[in-house]
Amino acid sequence: MPMHKIAVLGGDGIGQEVTPEARKVLEVVGRATGVSFEFETALVGGAAIDATGDPLPAATLALCERSDAILFGSVGGPKWDNLHQEKRPERGLLGLRKELDLFANLRPATCFPMLVDASPLKRDVVEGTDIMVIRELTGGLYFGEPRGREEFADGGARAINTMAYTSREIERVARVAFEVAMKRKKRLASVDKANVLVVFEHVLVDNCAMALVHKPTHFDTIVTENTFGDILSDEAAILAGSMGMLPSASLGGRVALYEPVHGTAPDIAGQGVANPIAAILSSGMLLRYSLNRGQDADRIDAAVVRVLEQGHRTRDIHAGGMKLVGTKEMGDLIAGEVERSYS
Ligand code: NAD
Repeated sequence: MPMHKIAVLGGDGIGQEVTPEARKVLEVVGRATGVSFEFETALVGGAAIDATGDPLPAATLALCERSDAILFGSVGGPKWDNLHQEKRPERGLLGLRKELDLFANLRPATCFPMLVDASPLKRDVVEGTDIMVIRELTGGLYFGEPRGREEFADGGARAINTMAYTSREIERVARVAFEVAMKRKKRLASVDKANVLVVFEHVLVDNCAMALVHKPTHFDTIVTENTFGDILSDEAAILAGSMGMLPSASLGGRVALYEPVHGTAPDIAGQGVANPIAAILSSGMLLRYSLNRGQDADRIDAAVVRVLEQGHRTRDIHAGGMKLVGTKEMGDLIAGEVERSYS
């Protein structure tokens, strides 16, 4: 059986609490299937700044480069908010994206049937929503040149940003999107503001923003530019109800990175109450997209659904009549269901 090396970068705040639960689930998959995982942890973000002065120490980058995939938590917190831009915790994540050429960000937004009422949309609109937004992550408006600010002699100013893409940048993200759509329901919408990307369904970004709240079940896989993807993936995320439920993947070069969409949640960090489901679903995406083990990922997704069906809830998704559990307990319950699914 192959051995897979996984870099575990918990980061800060609840990143440190939810990442071990995701690792626990992967260990269960390893024991059940005979696949061996070698986990190695490293510092990133604020924790790395405290220890080394650098949000992405060379040793962490080197570990990621020699791993098969990265399980990432989240970085940041009030303690480091006043540092210079270049030395802030998020530079750890941005540095990894750049160094590992992670140009495609996969953001699934699934509305779990038993959490429909947590969505701001009406049940009949949102029920059955299962969307994958693929956001181009390293080009477009955030990086295009020329960019900057010009000051005029009369006291006025002009700011310039350029949305530029090379055909190579578009082709490679389109290729990822087609491959992902093939693993899903084989429907792909290319969202743009001018019809220049791939064939299939072309949707203008303003129409897409409207359709996501009007008829989200229309979409399967969506591929779009960096800024549009930033906005649309957050809009799609809201459909799912809670920040604690949303996984993500960033693909591109040889090593991909998997992380919950949420941040370090300083308001609840250290209390053992954070929802680990986003991190656990991220470990499922790791199996699906880095290790081509879609059936094991399906078992993780199904185990999450079963634990929710049994009425277990962390505080963020808790409602009357449900059983309140903490981070570790939720991780144990899901790991237990994954284990049972193999027996
Ligand atoms: P956040 O996602 O950390 O928290 C927003 C709200 O959602 C909070 O009330 C929090 O308690 C709740 N929440 C988030 N995840 C949860 C979970 N798993 N379980 C239960 N509740 C959860 O966003 P924020 O407050 O805007 O940012 C806090 C810090 O995280 C900042 O320093 C920010 O820069 C950083 N951040 C990091 C990342 C990342 O590393 N990718 C992403 C977003 C924010």
